[in-house]
Amino acid sequence: MDRLNGQKEFAPSPMASEEGRDELYLYSLKKMADRNSENERITLTGLYGTAPFFYKANECIREHSDLQYALIRLDIYRFKTVNEFCGRTTGDILLKFIADCFRAYESEVTVIGHLRADTFQLLTPYKTEEELIRIVTEINDKIENFQIQCKILPAFGICKQEMGMDVSLLSDYANLALQTVKGKIFSSYAFYDEDMRQQLLYEKKIENEILQALKGKQLEVFVQPKVEVRTKRIVGGEALLRWNHPVDGYISPSDFIPILEKSGYIIKVDNYIWEQVFLNLRNQLDNKNLIVPISLNVSRLHVFRSDFEEYLYNLVKQYDIDPSMIVLELTESAFTENAELLFSKLHSLQRKGFLISMDDFGSGYSSLNMLKDEPIDEIKIDRIFLSDIRTNKSKTIIKRIIALIKELDMKIIAEGVETTEQSDFLLECGCNVCQGYLYYRPMPVTEFFMLVAANNT
Ligand code: C2E
Ligand code: CA
Ligand code: CA
Repeated sequence: MDRLNGQKEFAPSPMASEEGRDELYLYSLKKMADRNSENERITLTGLYGTAPFFYKANECIREHSDLQYALIRLDIYRFKTVNEFCGRTTGDILLKFIADCFRAYESEVTVIGHLRADTFQLLTPYKTEEELIRIVTEINDKIENFQIQCKILPAFGICKQEMGMDVSLLSDYANLALQTVKGKIFSSYAFYDEDMRQQLLYEKKIENEILQALKGKQLEVFVQPKVEVRTKRIVGGEALLRWNHPVDGYISPSDFIPILEKSGYIIKVDNYIWEQVFLNLRNQLDNKNLIVPISLNVSRLHVFRSDFEEYLYNLVKQYDIDPSMIVLELTESAFTENAELLFSKLHSLQRKGFLISMDDFGSGYSSLNMLKDEPIDEIKIDRIFLSDIRTNKSKTIIKRIIALIKELDMKIIAEGVETTEQSDFLLECGCNVCQGYLYYRPMPVTEFFMLVAANNT
């Protein structure tokens, strides 16, 4: 019979040579380890631990090759806090309770495991997806009704077994599915599917290739002009990253920036783009050309790094650029987290002369009240506001918001302006600076500065 994870059982040759004796010794050790791990159970719950679970589950699939199998994995969101808030004893009672919920599905054709603290797995045969959903819903309902003082959020990942898939792979895939619902209130389970696989492969590809892209100068700075509507003058620009991939062509930042944010590579990439902007500003000044302030996108992850401000100060020094030529765009959502630290950082940057812009205003949950104390020079109204200016109600909202922002003495700019109807209305409301396809699309940085020169002569 095949042993652990489908590897062939190691059988020693009967030779009595020294080599043979060594083999025999290793064989006995392995036998002992197998026997122990085959039956090892977690003391607290009495369920199989990691190694025996994988072993039994692989055996089970082999022995019932006529059945279709799936693996369900459960993890509790922030289980550590259960121990902290309710005490370890209650935490242990909860784990035993979860183990009992799983035990309800114990049979000759299933295998149940308790991998570590709050991770449980069930290998079960199934005929339809609905059956699997019923199991996770039943377990989920039981856990949610467990009498405990803190909120328990179970997350389930489900992976259906296909030909040749080892149980440890099923478990990894179920875990990936699980991560997509972890901490979410409205969905407690996810299936691992082809889309998820493709997305993960894509994420891996981006992570693998980004450093090469940086080295190989595949990352380019584009700039989209900001236009004063009345005079049509270009009063600034926003630096936007473009990845000119040698095989895939231009990849949109919306496709890869979220991946870089997850993996942390965004720091390197932002730093590169910022330096390119400073370098281009310096070149323009050296050639006695006109420059206008350039906005840099700052990822949320970036702001909280301890060397964030220092990096910008160094660029100012190195390229001898007046900080008032640099606008830092932070998305609205960045302002809701760890506000105190953020404000102190932004205040320091403002004191040095940088301008701070709140990007995507209106796309999330900004509180108008918080605007009054924040170190913000400019508000950038998200295009979502402009998508519906046909009704009187939305017109009133935009009008009032613009009036309020102006009263608070902040600059205002609208982005994603695509029609004259939108720009006319914005002007009527007192918003005189716009950015959008109606005026210009993002363009290579050198083209942008040529346009600025031509535009202002
Ligand atoms: P964002 O900061 O909100 O940038 C504005 C986006 O709207 C840009 O998309 C721009 O090309 C697009 N846009 C401009 N005018 C119009 C219009 O009239 N209609 C429509 N439909 N879209 C318009 P892009 O360049 O694809 O960038 C997407 C996002 O990626 C940016 O959104 C920003 O969040 C992020 N991003 C881009 N470059 C960088 C960067 O260097 N660093 C960081 N951290 N994020 C960046
Ligand atoms: Ca932006
Ligand atoms: Ca924006």
